Amino acid sequence: MIFPAALCLAAAVAADAATVQVAIVRQAASATLMPDGETLIAQPGAKPMPLEWKGELALRPRDGGLRLANLRLKTETRLLPGPGARIRVGPNTYRGALILRLDPGQTVTIVEEVEVEEYLEGVLPHEMNPDWPLEALKAQAVVARTFTYANMGKFRKDGFDLTADTRSQVYKGMTAINENVRAAVRQTRGEVLGWKGRLLRVYYHACCGGATTDAGAAWGGEGEIPRPLKGVRDPWCAASPHMKWIAYFAWADLTAAISERRMLNSPLQSLRIGARDAAGYVRTFLAKSGGETVELKAAELRGSLGAGEMKSVRIKRLNLLKKGVEFIGGGSGHGVGLCQWGARLQAEKGRGYAKILLFYFPGAELSEVDE
Ligand SMILES: [Zn+2]
Repeated sequence: MIFPAALCLAAAVAADAATVQVAIVRQAASATLMPDGETLIAQPGAKPMPLEWKGELALRPRDGGLRLANLRLKTETRLLPGPGARIRVGPNTYRGALILRLDPGQTVTIVEEVEVEEYLEGVLPHEMNPDWPLEALKAQAVVARTFTYANMGKFRKDGFDLTADTRSQVYKGMTAINENVRAAVRQTRGEVLGWKGRLLRVYYHACCGGATTDAGAAWGGEGEIPRPLKGVRDPWCAASPHMKWIAYFAWADLTAAISERRMLNSPLQSLRIGARDAAGYVRTFLAKSGGETVELKAAELRGSLGAGEMKSVRIKRLNLLKKGVEFIGGGSGHGVGLCQWGARLQAEKGRGYAKILLFYFPGAELSEVDE
């Protein structure tokens, strides 16, 4: 399905964004670089020169500028790996141009300028298990690509497009890329999800626990929710290991977590579920302390307790115990958009990536970025 309007917009984005700038080191005291293969060094306003240095090179701020090994550099100096060359930075290896930058606080930031399709190879193994079925990885590749174009320039004020962590998508250069990952990116090259002629703001999570939820219900927000971002019932992830979990928190820990955002005048006495959304996700809890009942946002309480400890807010019930509370829940993550475990199990049953995507984003248009 190709909608001309979606195509136009995607093409307009692609024209100046076939590459993406990702901050791979942020405001560090120093960084260790190791070029592997022929690399040019390009200082601003000067002709690129071969980088003669081999082995591990320390990059650090010095005398108001940058120093790479013994070389004095201007900020915005670029390292340009030649064909097949790589540069290791810390534990990871990169193939794009590296922009070395001195921050105002005398720290160093390294930004990689990399082709979007290569960037996606570096994202995929950290956002989905690279040994999962190919069609699930292809669905993830399209979602990650759509996310990338839709968020291009999100951190422009910081001097790059995206971070390399969970605030954008986890990216570690060439680390952990396997043949499966390369095939998933190559076989979906340029494909993105759109809706009504615009790139869709896509989301994904580990497991929905039986139903995904509306983007609006999860994050509040005004206005109409695009049809593809409304929740769907999902029978596919039933065999996922995240389907049911129990998390236990002592009363003292709950009191401390709630106190991060709310003044409690005495320790928590009781906790119950307040409102749920249409998909069954808990939106509010009611907490009683000192004879007063306060309403808490479930997502905020989850954030304070730790998203890894309380895997989701799709909580079926609470067991109030003497020393603490048991949360009986299902799913892992915010529950909006693509359910990765559902995608995996659909792929194992032979469903293709386009079908998987339209299951989680009903009505979305699969179009191609014109490169
Ligand atoms: Zn699911």
